[in-house]
Amino acid sequence: MAKSPAPSPAPWIEPKGSVSGFARLDAETFPDFTPGTVWLVGAGPGAPGLMSLLCYHAMQTCDVVVYDALVNPDILRWVRVGAELEYAGKRGGKPSPKQRDITLRLIELAAQGKRVLRLKGGDPFMFGRGGEEAQNLANAGVTFRIVPGISSGIGGLAYAGIPATHRDTNHSVIFLTGHDATGAMPANVDWAAVATASPVIVMYMAVKNTPEIADALMAGGREADCPITFVSNATLPHQSVLETTLGKARQFLETNTPPTPAIVVVGKVSRWREMLDWYVEGLRESTVG
Ligand code: SAH
Repeated sequence: MAKSPAPSPAPWIEPKGSVSGFARLDAETFPDFTPGTVWLVGAGPGAPGLMSLLCYHAMQTCDVVVYDALVNPDILRWVRVGAELEYAGKRGGKPSPKQRDITLRLIELAAQGKRVLRLKGGDPFMFGRGGEEAQNLANAGVTFRIVPGISSGIGGLAYAGIPATHRDTNHSVIFLTGHDATGAMPANVDWAAVATASPVIVMYMAVKNTPEIADALMAGGREADCPITFVSNATLPHQSVLETTLGKARQFLETNTPPTPAIVVVGKVSRWREMLDWYVEGLRESTVG
């Protein structure tokens, strides 16, 4: 058999720009942020260090950022000086702007020839309405790019020492939202099927409806001693975690209020936290993650 040739040095070993620091980014060919286009970007769950390089590049080259409530203000400090910041979330009890108005605004800004950075928490396509916004942009003939982000339901859990999957506990995971457009527990979810379909269920926007959801899962055959864990403000210095079981959840929530935003995890996978809870006091001093 022919001897395979010696491997060439990995490209990342070659110094491309200055040897250290962010200046090296300048040596990379980032995609152009063309005027009159929209980038729909996930900023990750909160910690600025969990942004992607494309997200950072977009922040450094955009003209305007249209951001949601879940985007950590610390992340906005990374936007270039001079870019406009527009808030598109709920504020001070006022109703949130209609999705339609936000999309129309994006189209309007793009028509003005701006480089529009639409910044969302986590991943834009994970319960973030990114799909709807992208569809509307496509319908309006606006050129767009999607930059995925780390979703709170995966990356946020990692900061609480909870792997979304682990070979000893689960070979599948279900992601679902705990409330529908009216705020109620979603009726079009087959809760009995969900109860048995996967050992791990990761729920977004689910704190308020947890008692009903826990009942529905138990009615569907899920054991009462199954752990349920609330990971609040994941990846941020004030992250907190509360743990109980499905059977005790209703009573637990009468005396405990998980701060929001929170991810709710059902399943034994959260038991790995006992060993893997790594985001501890001293590590929370970093402003990056
Ligand atoms: N696109 C986002 C989710 C938007 S829906 C993502 O991929 O993460 C909003 C829900 O996300 C919140 O109700 C909460 O369940 C969850 N969430 C977002 N950021 C969070 C955080 N830092 N910690 C815990 N949950 C978070």
